[in-house]
Amino acid sequence: MNLFTYQKSLEYKKALQVNSKQFDKVDRRTEKNGYISYLYRKLSDEIGDESLQITANRVFSCSRFYQIDYYVDQKVKDVQRTYFCHNRFCDNCQNAYAVQREFKYTPVLDQLSKLFHLYHIVFTVPNCYSDQLLITLDQMQNSFGYINRYLNGNLKIKGIDFLKYGYSGCIRALEITKSKKGDFHPHFHCLFLFRNDLSKFPEWKKYNVNSYSFDNPDVVLHRKKSYGTPQRYFSDFEILLQKIWRLKFDGIKVTRDNLEGIKEGYSVIVDPAKGRYHQVFKYATKGLFKKTDGDLNYRDFVNLHFALQNRRIIQGYGVFFHCDFEEINLDTDKYYNRLVAVLRSNEYPIPEIEKLDQILTAQLHAKDITYISRQSMRRIMEDNNDER
Ligand SMILES: [Zn+2]
Repeated sequence: MNLFTYQKSLEYKKALQVNSKQFDKVDRRTEKNGYISYLYRKLSDEIGDESLQITANRVFSCSRFYQIDYYVDQKVKDVQRTYFCHNRFCDNCQNAYAVQREFKYTPVLDQLSKLFHLYHIVFTVPNCYSDQLLITLDQMQNSFGYINRYLNGNLKIKGIDFLKYGYSGCIRALEITKSKKGDFHPHFHCLFLFRNDLSKFPEWKKYNVNSYSFDNPDVVLHRKKSYGTPQRYFSDFEILLQKIWRLKFDGIKVTRDNLEGIKEGYSVIVDPAKGRYHQVFKYATKGLFKKTDGDLNYRDFVNLHFALQNRRIIQGYGVFFHCDFEEINLDTDKYYNRLVAVLRSNEYPIPEIEKLDQILTAQLHAKDITYISRQSMRRIMEDNNDER
C-alpha cells in the first residue's frame, strides 16, 4: 500500500469509527426489551397465540448480535449488520425508523418549503383509558380523512371556501403519550402544505380564547405557566378546524348549523413549521415505557398492542400519498466502500458474530481494535433527540 492510500485509509477509519457511546445508546434503548418480551409471552399464553412467542423472541434479541468482518492483521472490525425486531414498542427500532425518516425527508421538505407554505398542525381528542384506544384511534383516523377531503375540495360545507388556501397534502403522524393520571393522550402531529400563505387571510388573526388556551399539553409554552392567563390565542381558522374535528370525531354531521351550534371543538393548533419537522418524524410510542414509573402495565400493553396492530402510524396525503415512512435502509457510502477496498487489498476478513455485551467489553479493554461501519448504520445508532 502506498503512503497516500495508507494515510487516506487512516482518515476514513477515523471517520467511520463506531465508538462505544453509539453501542451504549443501543444498549440503553434495548434495555426495556426484556420486559416487553415478557409482556408478549404473557399475552401469548393468555390468548393462545403461538406467533406472539416468536415476537417475544425477536424483541428480546433486537440488536444483540452483530455480523462482523474481522480484519485481524489490521485490527479492524467492520460491523456489517445487526438484527432489528421492527416492533412497535421497541425503542431501538422505532428510533432507527425516526432517524431514517428525518434524514430522508428533511431535504425534501426544505425544497418544498421554497414552493409551498408549511404548517405544523396538532389534532387532539380528549384523553382516554387504554381500553378505549382502539376505537379512539379508528375515529381519529376516520375524522382526519374528512379534514383532508374538506381542504382538498372533495367535500364541501355550504358557505365555507377551503380551496382558496391551496392545500396540497400533508404528513400525519400519530403520537400517544400517557398522563400522570394513567390515561392516554393520542394526538396527530402533522405537516400541512399550502400553496398560499395563511397569514395573508383575515381568519389567521389569533384573538380567540377558549379552554385550549390554558394548560394545553400540545401548546408549546412561550412563557411561564400562570394560572388563569391564556397561553395561546386561536385564529378563526383554527376554531373552524377545531369544530369540524370535533363534530366528525363525535359522529355528528358537519353542517353550517351544527358548526354554529357547538360552543367549542377539540384542540387543533396551527403554526408555521419554520423548518422544524422533527415532531412529525419521531415515533408514536416514544416515552411510553419509562424505567421510572414501573413501566407500562400488562393491561395497557395489551390494549396498545391491539390498538396499534396493522395501523399506519405515519400516513401521507395528497403529494405525500405514496411515501413509505417506515423503512430501515442500510445503504453504503463512498468512503466506506473505499476503506473496505483498502482493507481487503491487504487481507480477507474473518466473518464472525459478536454479542453487544462482548463488543462493549472489547471496547473497554481491547482498545487497539477499531470498530467501523457505514454511515447509515452509525446514524441509526444515534438518538433521534427532541433537541434537534
Ligand atoms: Zn427492535
